[in-house]
Amino acid sequence: MRHDAHGYWLDEAEAAEPLPALEGAHDCDVLIVGGGYTGLWTAWHLSRIEPDARVVLLESGRCGEGPSGRNGGFVNAMWFSLPSMRERFGDGPALEVARASERSVEQIGRFCEEQEVDAWYRAGGYLQVSSAEANDGAWDRAAAACRELGEPEAVQPLDASQVAEHCRSPRFRGGALYRANASVQPARLARGLRDRVAAAGVQVRERSRVTRLAAGPSGCVAATASGQVRARSCVLALGGATGARGSPLRGRLTVSSSHVALTEPVPELLEEIGWTGGECISDSRHLIHYMRTTPDGRIAFGWGGGKIACGARLGGRTEFDPEVVGQIIASLREFFPGLAGRRITHAWGGPIDVAPTHLPTIRSLPGPGRAWGAYGYTGNGVGPSQMIGRTLASLALDRRDEESRLALIDPELARVPTGLPGWLGGNAIREAVVRKEAAEAVGAPPHPVSRGVAAIPELIGIQIGR
Ligand SMILES: Cc1cc2nc3c(=O)[nH]c(=O)nc-3n(C[C@H](O)[C@H](O)[C@H](O)COP(=O)(O)OP(=O)(O)OC[C@H]3O[C@@H](n4cnc5c(N)ncnc54)[C@H](O)[C@@H]3O)c2cc1C
Repeated sequence: MRHDAHGYWLDEAEAAEPLPALEGAHDCDVLIVGGGYTGLWTAWHLSRIEPDARVVLLESGRCGEGPSGRNGGFVNAMWFSLPSMRERFGDGPALEVARASERSVEQIGRFCEEQEVDAWYRAGGYLQVSSAEANDGAWDRAAAACRELGEPEAVQPLDASQVAEHCRSPRFRGGALYRANASVQPARLARGLRDRVAAAGVQVRERSRVTRLAAGPSGCVAATASGQVRARSCVLALGGATGARGSPLRGRLTVSSSHVALTEPVPELLEEIGWTGGECISDSRHLIHYMRTTPDGRIAFGWGGGKIACGARLGGRTEFDPEVVGQIIASLREFFPGLAGRRITHAWGGPIDVAPTHLPTIRSLPGPGRAWGAYGYTGNGVGPSQMIGRTLASLALDRRDEESRLALIDPELARVPTGLPGWLGGNAIREAVVRKEAAEAVGAPPHPVSRGVAAIPELIGIQIGR
């Protein structure tokens, strides 16, 4: 098995020529820092809605080589977040976000088609299953909210035999099918986006890490080792690095991690268990197991239970964690016993930007300037980042349109502990949730200490489930 930080998708995607680094001093209208999906979609939308705008995108490494090129490739809408969005924003704004997120899934497909980006986009639906009695009916609130708000088709509850029509696993119980979903090869999407954005005239500069950013009433100035950009407005799309020391948004998110293992091609097993419709599947734990197939019949199987990052250190165990990958492979074989004797070929991981609301968040940066940060996808950024990029493009251009009024802009947010207390406390809570969910998986009552510690986040206003 090849276990590294970058994983299979980036290797499989066609190698891209690096783009030049920033050199010298430049002026522009909009500066984007970060070349993952959020930064790239923002740049793409800017190039569409204001083709004459001068846009510079600075990426510290290569575009799409962070989580955007390494994720599970689930392109989800946000219907499963409708209940919590109703509570936070009210019915109308919550419904607007959910509908916009569904359009986002469709528009990613349209982009791939129109721009001839072969990102393996396949609209196969998202199946949320229960893998433990404690999680049975985890989708009921989402299904009820969709019904009550006039979108009964968005989530369709299924009994165990209906779930088995999509995929048979001894761990699956009942579930629900969400219509708005697709899967992609994430690195192909990121590279295709980067190339289309550069071709549209955005100045994309790779290996250009921003080391200093100042935002004032007349604009923003960003500095890299070899250059400087002055801009009228600025978008920070840094993923997990949003929480780094010195970031204006430190204390607004926790950085955890997720890891994936990939099998060799097993198309005959997929036929045998009836998993041929391209469905993305997850269970309903807080620390979810998620799984999808590839066109050559592999299973990619991930777990959202990786360790919490220590401050700004996003490398290390958020990217490479043999202990967590060992647990993932054991779970993969439990979910699909037909894999006995079959090879696991790759494993990798990456940081997850977790918002206290569990929702993508756009936040105005402190100070008088026109600057925003976007983060907090909490493991669900592939679909929503297209929509968030559209909103950021409107905000950066100071447009007062429907997109610039999304309820995800400047919500009330609890602060999260940072530094050593955040790391120690976060990992203690993670450990308690892992233990609680391991007990529930075998139908045993969780230890009261695990249950108590696992409940702490909710007590201090931090949501850990959808
Ligand atoms: C293993 C794994 C599985 C996942 N599975 C899924 C899934 O199936 N579906 C889903 O919806 N989501 C999934 N996610 C989450 C998803 O990948 C993210 O939500 C999404 O990629 C976020 O995109 P982003 O552009 O906001 O951040 P990122 O992809 O993290 O991009 C941020 C970029 O900013 C750059 N940067 C940071 N600091 C600086 C600086 N100072 N100067 C310049 N550049 C900087 C980084 O190098 C990086 O390229 C998964 C994540 C992981 C790690």
